[in-house]
Amino acid sequence: MRHLISGAAVLALAASAGFAQTPAASDAAKVHERILTLDTHLDSPANLDQPDWNITERHDVLHDTTQVDLPRMIEGGLDGGFWVIYTGQGPNDATGYARALAHALKRLHQIHDFAAANPQSFALATTAADAARIAASGKRVVYISMENGYPLGTDIANLEAFYQLGLRMAGPVHNGSNQLADSTNGEAVHGGLSDLGKAWVKEANRLGIIIDASHAADSSFDQMLALSKAPIILSHSGPKALHDHPRNLDDARLKALAAKGGVIQVNSLFLSPDLPRPGVEAMRARMADVDTLPAEQRAALMAEWARVNVAEPRSASDFDRYMEAVFYCIDLLGVDHVGIGADWDGGGGVIGLNQISEIPKITQALLARGLTEQQVEKIWSGNVLRVMAEVERVAAGK
Ligand SMILES: [Zn+2]
Repeated sequence: MRHLISGAAVLALAASAGFAQTPAASDAAKVHERILTLDTHLDSPANLDQPDWNITERHDVLHDTTQVDLPRMIEGGLDGGFWVIYTGQGPNDATGYARALAHALKRLHQIHDFAAANPQSFALATTAADAARIAASGKRVVYISMENGYPLGTDIANLEAFYQLGLRMAGPVHNGSNQLADSTNGEAVHGGLSDLGKAWVKEANRLGIIIDASHAADSSFDQMLALSKAPIILSHSGPKALHDHPRNLDDARLKALAAKGGVIQVNSLFLSPDLPRPGVEAMRARMADVDTLPAEQRAALMAEWARVNVAEPRSASDFDRYMEAVFYCIDLLGVDHVGIGADWDGGGGVIGLNQISEIPKITQALLARGLTEQQVEKIWSGNVLRVMAEVERVAAGK
């Protein structure tokens, strides 16, 4: 939030975030109110497929598992972020590409539609300079990103079509290697990027799209970092030093990312071993057709699903563990190379940080660690916007 909520609202915000009413806590709430806050990986557009789910209404993770909507962004003081066009990986063939493209275009239009339907609350952003202007006008910032380049098929010109429709950040791959790159999850097909993937990097640089290496295999990461003329980003990844998981990166790679001006936006997933979730697994089959049920039955099943998901967390990671990962990255790379990308509505959230209304706790913890307001703002938005401005500069050939 920027300059838009009253002192009383600040206290209410502090109370809702679980802060004690001490001067320090109320200072943290004021800082959180003043600074520009962006999360770089909001998977929330997937919720727009749910019948009767409206982004302007307040939901609760305990009732329907969703983590982000407009009222909770206001409560949590999140100014906006990168809203994701996520496409699950399927067969790498013409039929698969056509289906994926149709899906990605639908999701792209859903993002445009919710912003256009609520012009007093949301505004599309396409340049680094847009975010502060939009937030200062009291609206939420909508950058568009793409998780998985599978929908682009074998025609790199498709990337420009998405750019023209607002795309400003893109990752080549998700779970399973594809026509562009090898994934952290799946067979090594290309030994990193394919020739098409290398052309994709050049095209992203030419257009002015931030390259996102989250989900890319280490070999793909290394090649994107070497090939890209602009800094690259990890929109939602973690440090391998805390938990040895393929989705996390080792210290040497994180240092190489920072040396080229890039940023790791710290993920809340994969920070400790997965726990067994027998109740969640047992419910999956029943959840497959949930969207076809009559409204009342659907709501009841969603509520049961939410309860089971809370009762069986993915891991033992809690808020302190999340902050440990953030602090680890700050200590390793410096405050200019770390940000927040908690994978909201994409499986993210930890015990004690489960929906977007709770994020003032992050600001409070950063301040308690001794960071200044200016440093906290770099982590919440300044670093990613610096990368974006540099990507714009490279695309402009300056
Ligand atoms: Zn992801």
